[in-house]
Amino acid sequence: MGFGQNFTSLMAFSRYSDGQWQTPDIRPLTDFNLTPASHVLHYASTCFEGLKAYRWADGGIRLFRYRDNIKRLRASAKALCLPMPDETMLDDMIKQAVLAVDSEIPALPKSLYIRPTLIGTEDNIGAAGKASKEAFLYIMTSPVGDYFSGGIRPLKLLIDEVNMRSTPTFGQVKTGGNYAAALSSVIRAREQYGADQVLYCPQGNVQETGAANFFVLKDKSLITKKLDGSILPGITRDSIIQLAHNQGYEIIECDFTVTELINWLPQSEAFLSGTAAVISPVGHLIHNNKTLAVGDGEIGRQTLAFREQLTAIQQGNQVDKFDWVTQINERC
Ligand SMILES: *Cc1c(COP(=O)(O)O)cnc(C)c1O
Repeated sequence: MGFGQNFTSLMAFSRYSDGQWQTPDIRPLTDFNLTPASHVLHYASTCFEGLKAYRWADGGIRLFRYRDNIKRLRASAKALCLPMPDETMLDDMIKQAVLAVDSEIPALPKSLYIRPTLIGTEDNIGAAGKASKEAFLYIMTSPVGDYFSGGIRPLKLLIDEVNMRSTPTFGQVKTGGNYAAALSSVIRAREQYGADQVLYCPQGNVQETGAANFFVLKDKSLITKKLDGSILPGITRDSIIQLAHNQGYEIIECDFTVTELINWLPQSEAFLSGTAAVISPVGHLIHNNKTLAVGDGEIGRQTLAFREQLTAIQQGNQVDKFDWVTQINERC
C-alpha cells in the first residue's frame, strides 16, 4: 500500500469540552462518532501536522525536530480559532502515540510517519461565524517506506500564474482548506499537462507547490521565497537553509518572479522539500505550454547531496550538530 493507507493499531486521543482538554489516552485506531452537524464537516475547522520517528540501528527511537511541529500546530489552531492544546500535552501525546506502537515501528530506512490532527466538533451548523467550543485532538501513526525505494525521478511542475492555493495570510496554516482550494488545479495539471505538481505563482510571483516548499540552487546560492504568511513554513525548508548556510552557501530568501526563475533555469537545480519525501528533485517546468528543463533535466548533484545529508542526520549516520534529533525511549 502507498503512503497514507497503512496505519498502526493505536492512536493518542483527547477531547476538548467545557473549556478543557481531557487527559489524553491511547486507544485503538478505530472509527469515532461525529454528529453530522460537526463544525469541521461544514466550516473546515481542521489542522494537522506531519513528522517522523526513526528506529535507529542502536535501538533508540528518535523524533526529528518535533518541537517545531508542536509550535506550528499551535499556530494553526490559533489561526482557525480552535482550542489550543498546550505544549506539554502535545509533547506527551506525540511521544505516547509513538511509544505505544513500538513493535510496529519499522527499521531504517523505513520510518513512522506521525499525523497529529485537530478538528472542531461542536454540534452546531449555526456556528459558521463562531469558534467551535468542542474539539478532538488525535495522533495517528503510519509506517512508511523509503519514499524513493523505486528510485528518484525528477518531477515536472506546471507553473500556474492564475490560481492560488491559499490566501496571502492563510498560506502559512497547515489546514485542509488550503488543500481543498488547490485540488482542482492540481488535478487539471496532471490531466492536461502530465505534470506531477503545480508550482503556484499568482501574478507571476513564485510561491510553493500544493504540499511542498520550492527551492532553486544556482552557483553557490540557495534561493527560496521568504516566509510572508502566504507559504507554509516548512521544517524541512528550514533544515535545508541551515545546512546550506553551514556549508557556505549564500541564502537568498526573497520574492522572485517566474521570469527570473526561467532565466536561471539553464544553470540551476531545483527541488521540493517536505517531511514525506524530504527532498524531491525538479527536472522540468511547464510554462505557457512549453516544457523547460532545469539544468540538464536530471537530478541535480547538489540537490542529491542535501538530501543525503538530511537523511543521514535523521537516520543517525551523520553527527547531529544542530540538535534536531530527540531520543524518546530508554537508552539500552
Ligand atoms: C506540510 C507542508 C509543507 C512542508 O512542511 P514540512 O514541515 O517540511 O513537512 C510545505 N508546504 C505545504 C503546503 C505543506 O502543507
